[in-house]
Amino acid sequence: MSMRELVVLGTASQAPTRARNHNGYVLRWDDEVILFDPGEGSQRQLLHTGVTATDLTRICVTHFHGDHCLGLPGTIQRLSLDRVPHPVAVHFPAGGADYFARLRHASSFHETAELAVEPIEADGQRIELRHGTLEARRLRHPVETYGYRLLEPDGCRMLPERLAAYGIAGPAVGELHRTGHLDLDGRRVTRDEVSVRRPGQRFAFVMDTGLCDGVYALAEHADLLVIESTFLESEAALAAEVGHLTAGQAARVAAESGVRRLVLTHFSQRYADSVRFADEARRHFDGDLVIAEDLATVQVPPRRVPSAE
Ligand SMILES: [Zn+2]
Repeated sequence: MSMRELVVLGTASQAPTRARNHNGYVLRWDDEVILFDPGEGSQRQLLHTGVTATDLTRICVTHFHGDHCLGLPGTIQRLSLDRVPHPVAVHFPAGGADYFARLRHASSFHETAELAVEPIEADGQRIELRHGTLEARRLRHPVETYGYRLLEPDGCRMLPERLAAYGIAGPAVGELHRTGHLDLDGRRVTRDEVSVRRPGQRFAFVMDTGLCDGVYALAEHADLLVIESTFLESEAALAAEVGHLTAGQAARVAAESGVRRLVLTHFSQRYADSVRFADEARRHFDGDLVIAEDLATVQVPPRRVPSAE
């Protein structure tokens, strides 16, 4: 059974607090282990979670504000210190390439790890992975920002009783699955007749943005949505002015987009009690709700039940 889960490294926006480290998240998705937005202290937070530098296969940065990227120097140097043997892909807004270059070589170190740097050049850019597609969408923030989502293609699940009814067994099942049809005594049986669609899973990561089309594009039918809710509705005007979301907005996006499990994070240090984020979100969203805490693990929910043909 493949593992798909989110590991939370930190949940504070702008400035860390006693209880919250700067941002940072790891997504385990089968053979991919993706580090998102490593803020300061991410290297040590990783240690607490048991995710090692060698586990990492990819790093995605949404934008170059400090709370989303100042963990890059330490993390990148750690890849070399641990002599990570595989290339680690790195994605970030192309407009921030100078920042990335400086962070990558922020201090002297013996560089052995290989980074496969592939900046995001445009809205909708897609990167093919072994178990899905990583897509970047432009967000609305004072600096160039992209959110990401991971899409697993839909599959299909063969129905044993239908196969049996047609007398299809053994290698013929594989052939039907592969080619989409099978000719039996002059009659063609199609894959659709003996299977149901198995919806692919979706993960979305939305950081630092005002409400915009990109937010909805990323959140659409996400099984697990990680989304910033820096502010509460009481600060809605300020949130809009500085390019951030409120918990209420994030929850409404989730409800309108058919999200199954909603993870709110990136909290302003002005709020002492995170229960207020839950209370506000609950007014709009009745699916699974998680108020992210440092070092928590959140599972990608089990697949949706396959739809009838
Ligand atoms: Zn920002």
